[in-house]
Amino acid sequence: MHRPTFAIMEKQLIDPFARAIKYLRVSVTDRCDFRCVYCMSENMEFLPKKDLLTLEELDRLCSAFIGLGVEKLRITGGEPLVRRGIMTFFNAMTRHLDSGALKELTLTTNGSQLAKYAEDLYAAGVRRVNVSLDTLDDQKFADITRWGRLPQVIKGIDAAQKAGLRVKINAVALKGFNEDELFTLQSWCADRDMDLTFIEVMPMGDIGNEDRLGQYWSLNDLRKQLGERFTLTDLAERSGGPARYIRIEETGQKIGLITPMSHNFCESCNRVRITCTGEIYTCLGQEGHSDLREPLRASNDDDVLEAAIHRAIGLKPKGHDFDYSRQTVDGRVSRHMSHTGG
Ligand code: SAM
Ligand code: SF4
Repeated sequence: MHRPTFAIMEKQLIDPFARAIKYLRVSVTDRCDFRCVYCMSENMEFLPKKDLLTLEELDRLCSAFIGLGVEKLRITGGEPLVRRGIMTFFNAMTRHLDSGALKELTLTTNGSQLAKYAEDLYAAGVRRVNVSLDTLDDQKFADITRWGRLPQVIKGIDAAQKAGLRVKINAVALKGFNEDELFTLQSWCADRDMDLTFIEVMPMGDIGNEDRLGQYWSLNDLRKQLGERFTLTDLAERSGGPARYIRIEETGQKIGLITPMSHNFCESCNRVRITCTGEIYTCLGQEGHSDLREPLRASNDDDVLEAAIHRAIGLKPKGHDFDYSRQTVDGRVSRHMSHTGG
């Protein structure tokens, strides 16, 4: 059995509730080539470029976390594949996969650029990608993403599978929008040997006039509908995050249900998030965060950076409270998902 050396154990990131931090999600840009209605307003204002971490800073920061015991790195955004030069960053992370320190390098993408990058991502060591796709209807896809085109995303998924990447589809469950596509999406994924995860819509950021209440489709209800057609088995497997999994016995397919509004995952939460500006959020549902860009830019000394990371992890709260948040009315979190990275 592999045992970490004492030195590494000492450096491990352990939060005040004895949770070891193994999973880092990093948003590499706030920009995107889509404007999904639940995520962004149509006239989003993006951050000045100088506020974003450079690719070198992202490398240094992620490498510091990996040195402190992070084993899984998920790259997200905005749309990570629209960040200029992003393959330089992925290629730089390959060294941590090669050394064995990093166990998995992965990304969440809207799929629009996958046809271009799938092979390069595989070559960099990526083996799995999450592609967000809420509908298989051309017109509905154009409506929900405002700027997206479905055939381009399907082409991206084709390219990813051809390159050897395992694809999981993430769909936001939206009442009155994709409720009628539950079985279409499920069977399409089964035919392509892809797992499928549904995400409950979350109250994040100011996105204009969209009515969130009208959008909320309970995943309990979704599960019930699936159960009326299929034999479902609850899986014990947990990812350390807000997903629960069930297996459809008839297809062998794994279906994930992400219910971030519930609290049932907080005690095992092993993840933290970094925004594209280098803020670290230790809980998706809380406003509390620390700045890592300042220590990153102030000094080339990694000890300074590591000390700042340790201080930030020391502030990780026990859990979140979207529904009765002390920070904002209605538990709404003011930042956009594209800022923190979903
Ligand atoms: N652009 C990439 C994509 O769409 O996959 C990565 C970033 S996106 C912010 C990550 C995930 O967050 C996507 O699966 C998206 O559907 C989800 N998301 C965005 N806004 C959300 C919201 N208000 N509630 C729930 N999920 C949301
Ligand atoms: Fe872009 Fe992803 Fe947000 Fe859609 S969900 S607007 S694709 S960042």
